[in-house]
Amino acid sequence: MITSSEYRKRLSKMRRNVYMNGQLIDRDHPRLEGAVNVLAKTYDMVEDPEFKEFEEIITAKSHLTGEKINRFCHVHRSVADLLAKQRMTRLTCHQVGGCIARCMGCDAINANYVISYEVDQAFGTEYHKRFVNWLRKFQENDCTGCAAQTDVKGNRPWRPHEQLDPDLYVRVVETKSDGIVIRGAKVHNSVAPCVEWILVLPTRRLTKEEGPWAVSCAVPAADDGVRLIVSAAAYDTSKELGMPGPYGSADSLTIFDDVFVPWERVFLNGEYEFGGQLALMFALYHRHSYTGCKPAMTDVLTGATALMAECNGIEREPHVREKLVELICTSELCYGTGVAAAINARRSGSGTYVPDVLYCNVSRRHAGLNIYHEFDILADIAGGMPATLPREADWLSPETRPFLEKYMKRNPAVSIEDIHRAFRWVQAISCSELAGVMQYAGVHGGGSPRMEQIAIAGSYNVEQVKNIAKRLAGIPVGGKYTFDRLGVTPRGAEADQ
Ligand SMILES: Cc1cc2nc3c(=O)[nH]c(=O)nc-3n(C[C@H](O)[C@H](O)[C@H](O)COP(=O)(O)OP(=O)(O)OC[C@H]3O[C@@H](n4cnc5c(N)ncnc54)[C@H](O)[C@@H]3O)c2cc1C
Repeated sequence: MITSSEYRKRLSKMRRNVYMNGQLIDRDHPRLEGAVNVLAKTYDMVEDPEFKEFEEIITAKSHLTGEKINRFCHVHRSVADLLAKQRMTRLTCHQVGGCIARCMGCDAINANYVISYEVDQAFGTEYHKRFVNWLRKFQENDCTGCAAQTDVKGNRPWRPHEQLDPDLYVRVVETKSDGIVIRGAKVHNSVAPCVEWILVLPTRRLTKEEGPWAVSCAVPAADDGVRLIVSAAAYDTSKELGMPGPYGSADSLTIFDDVFVPWERVFLNGEYEFGGQLALMFALYHRHSYTGCKPAMTDVLTGATALMAECNGIEREPHVREKLVELICTSELCYGTGVAAAINARRSGSGTYVPDVLYCNVSRRHAGLNIYHEFDILADIAGGMPATLPREADWLSPETRPFLEKYMKRNPAVSIEDIHRAFRWVQAISCSELAGVMQYAGVHGGGSPRMEQIAIAGSYNVEQVKNIAKRLAGIPVGGKYTFDRLGVTPRGAEADQ
């Protein structure tokens, strides 16, 4: 495994292909610092003695090499692995106060691992062998990856082959003896400018006219023909007050301008039947990751609400406790459902474990439904100060500081420095550019709410519950009582055999 300084050094050596605010920038540009710091944390935590007790959570033994690797590079070979991934996600998100960002690469790896095997079984191709060879090197080098799934999509109701411009979904435009050439653009690629590899995946089910759009491959993030047009946001935290960070996000509109991909990095090419399966498999793993990160985000907001209540001297008020309980119910329901998704995982043909579809989607949907409500609770208890807090320079200026110290006092049990720190941080997480990004991520990250509804409806047998109602109403029902969800049996250690 490498250190965070080695990770940063690798980034600094990459070809310049990141554009921001009309400029071509280096990967160590200050606007990317927040997102790079987040990923660096995943390297630091492995070495940090404070997290020694979590070593088995944040690292894993590679089933390919037998070596210890960062769990973000791991393929889930058991129920225990899925549970550890979920715990790792919650634990790491706590350290940066938001998205840990390395999960997208991990989820794309797992989805490719499962589906490349299935495609080979169906068509006698050799995608799985190629993918395993690529993954071995990815693990050995402790790399970072991102997932480029979401196509720009053009006019939403039209299919890829119906668009006025066929490049609105990434597609293969040329097949050569040594590989393929892809063209198009993916959007909202989290941390694309801060990783070494972009994993390109289909975004939706594909029809038989849509073979060219059925493509999965690994592309070096600074490869020829790749351009990253990036928008970044970071906490405006105070270094003077010793606050950690800054932490933040960087999302890319990623252009693939006739990018050559050699066969050894092509994991799906034309098998349209598997385009949708790969898209759904990535979404499923990603929604399972959300059962770790969304509870973590709620934990952060719950902590912030409790801290605001303390600063304001209202922590014993009944309405504060009631709202804290509401937040806890959201985090623990989402987390508990993720645990259920892991415990009820199935072993795929490739030997990799796949979490339960219904539990993953219910958890993700519940988190998405609550995200704005959680910020509403925090704003309610904080009062207006996070929105109108005087700037850092006014706190540091000898002319204005005495006034701030006098007039910002609240609960006498909390020092004025800590009052300032608390409001500065709550401003950063709830009333900033990054807060807006996190709110949208809370709704759309991992797929739009509609896609979650479709997944939930598709994996739940409504006829069975209608029959339960009919029986109770005395309406004759042919056949015996059945209810599939009772058949979702926790397998735990047994499933790991
Ligand atoms: C902060 C953030 C980070 C993200 N990170 C990543 C990432 O790392 N990698 C990645 O691949 N993606 C990422 N995403 C993308 C995310 O998965 C998408 O935002 C999500 O799938 C919705 O797609 P969209 O943004 O194109 O919205 P749209 O699909 O345009 O959705 C807008 C509305 O249109 C509806 N709609 C869309 N198509 C149809 C249709 N055919 N018929 C009827 N209604 C339709 C939707 O249901 C929704 O209500 C990220 C998103 C956000 C906000």
